[in-house]
Amino acid sequence: MVLTRFDREREALGELFADLPRYRSDQIWRAIYYEGDDPMQWTALSLQLRERVAEVLPTALTPVHTSISDDGDTQKMLWELADGSRIESVLMLYPDRATVCISTQAGCAMACSFCATGQAGFTRHLSVGEIVEQVARARQAAISRGRRLSNIVVMGMGEPLANERALWPSVERVHREYELSARHITVSTVGLVAGIDRLADRPLPVNLAVSLHAADDELRNQLVPINRRHPIDDLIASCSRYLEKRRRRISFEWAMIDGVNDRDSDAEKLASLCHRLSPSAHVNLIPLNPTPGYPVRGSDRKTIARFCDTLERHGVNVTVRRNRGDEIDAACGQLAAGQPVRLGRRPSGGGS
Ligand code: SAH
Repeated sequence: MVLTRFDREREALGELFADLPRYRSDQIWRAIYYEGDDPMQWTALSLQLRERVAEVLPTALTPVHTSISDDGDTQKMLWELADGSRIESVLMLYPDRATVCISTQAGCAMACSFCATGQAGFTRHLSVGEIVEQVARARQAAISRGRRLSNIVVMGMGEPLANERALWPSVERVHREYELSARHITVSTVGLVAGIDRLADRPLPVNLAVSLHAADDELRNQLVPINRRHPIDDLIASCSRYLEKRRRRISFEWAMIDGVNDRDSDAEKLASLCHRLSPSAHVNLIPLNPTPGYPVRGSDRKTIARFCDTLERHGVNVTVRRNRGDEIDAACGQLAAGQPVRLGRRPSGGGS
């Protein structure tokens, strides 16, 4: 595949412009990261050099469509890649932070039953250039709204720990270039045990989120099929090794699904899994977002509140995640690269 604008490390970019003095390639590097996606606007460079950059450093992402909700505070960006695959990223502006949710694969092979990306299947891994450029574009979009991009969540399309080869160089690059603290970067996994173990040894202490959704193997096998390969005991053991090394918080993601995983007994089992970890895991409840392939509703508000209470009574820290972007199919599990996801409104539920 052709290398795109953000694929190369600093040194390799220099080699591409080896005929020029070193300060020129430094200038180009800075312009790539800080001056937007159109080289013609990089007026510190000569026109000739700008034209050369545009030709030898093509962008990886072509904008297809941007959907806006929450009065512009949530933007879903649909991108086309060079091979025609499509991916999405979502920029969310909050009073105290600006977060981008990025994709690491076109599609996903994990096949979680309630997730639109999983329902659509796997196309391919993204490259470093395709991942880093999502952050660069979101940073620009934040700036155009007078904001500074402060957080990254790797919770878009794909399973990040199935694409570590591109994930880690990308995370390290944006951490360095955009001075984002590791505490403001979160990687979410379906629970790939070996990947969690490697994450614990990475130099950069990013946050870990684990998409749990069920606290017993029988139910988790149905919702998250990879559980057959990495059952809950193995997963909890790897989380525990991670905590021993890192002493950081782990979050468990839990989509609240009506009548499926929202009973008192589910909350109790979840609490006892949390207690096996020290410090205990934090639980993020996400009201299930509708997807075409999973005709079950999200839990209603009352059930969510009750589930929350049960966890709290057992001493578990819990938050209910506000559902950003659900009216533009940009919410958790709804990213499907432009395919229609809309199912009609949920009768209730949702934090927004
Ligand atoms: N593959 C990684 C990264 C995706 S993160 C992972 O599984 O963690 C996307 C998050 O949204 C995951 O926690 C996922 O389980 C959750 N999710 C998927 N479909 C959803 C839906 N329909 N409603 C709410 N959350 C969903």
